[in-house]
Amino acid sequence: MAETEERYQRYMDAIRRRVCSVCLDQRDDGACGLTGRTCAIEAHLPQIVEAVIAIKSDRMEDYVAAIQAQVCSRCASAAGPHCELRDRAECSLDAYLSLVIDAVEELRESSG
Ligand code: SF4
Ligand code: SF4
Repeated sequence: MAETEERYQRYMDAIRRRVCSVCLDQRDDGACGLTGRTCAIEAHLPQIVEAVIAIKSDRMEDYVAAIQAQVCSRCASAAGPHCELRDRAECSLDAYLSLVIDAVEELRESSG
């Protein structure tokens, strides 16, 4: 596995521990139970990691703005500034954003 892939895999592992473990779509065997679409966290992991890493703020709005600019803007589920999945609380990235941030920042800090 290439170094970059390994790095993102470590972030995905941290997200699985922090986010998937409480996600209502996780199956009993720990795998993602979504059918018919890929979770936005898996689909956009590199952009999510880089967006979160670039921010050091106590304000959640700063992270939300970065995710909307760097992830939602490229997401196939978005229709301009709107997103039906977000409106229906069916996007795990949006629903669990604070936990995603915790997972990324925890790994960033432990990696130095
Ligand atoms: S929907 Fe996303 S957050 Fe939920 S279990 Fe699947 S990959 Fe994890
Ligand atoms: S909120 Fe919508 S546009 Fe943004 S990542 Fe989730 S599904 Fe995609």
